[in-house]
Amino acid sequence: MRTHSGSCHCGAVRFSFRAPDIASAMQCDCSICIRKTAYLTPFKVSKEDMAITAEGDALKTYQFGTMTARHHFCGTCGIHTFVEPRLSPGSYRVNLGCIDGMGALRLPSEIFDGKSL
Ligand SMILES: [Zn+2]
Repeated sequence: MRTHSGSCHCGAVRFSFRAPDIASAMQCDCSICIRKTAYLTPFKVSKEDMAITAEGDALKTYQFGTMTARHHFCGTCGIHTFVEPRLSPGSYRVNLGCIDGMGALRLPSEIFDGKSL
């Protein structure tokens, strides 16, 4: 286990969480993830393991459809930092591109069939 930390592009939203080393990525092909083409953590991070800080009201949340999943993003730079997935609200999948020092595009990735949900 180690501490991973990261931020949105402008730094208004910052986060850290405890997890093992990240050796693979997950991509989702649901209607929003296919548009942001984010590489996500292959595991979910529990709320208790996630520390989030945001300047003012920088942290915004987008919801649609069943209004179950919570897509969190920075209202200043627009970057989606993490999501509470529809199948496991109350936990997070984190955008690997937002984690400090993470070569997200170079990790092997699996595609989650979010389109079928
Ligand atoms: Zn930002």
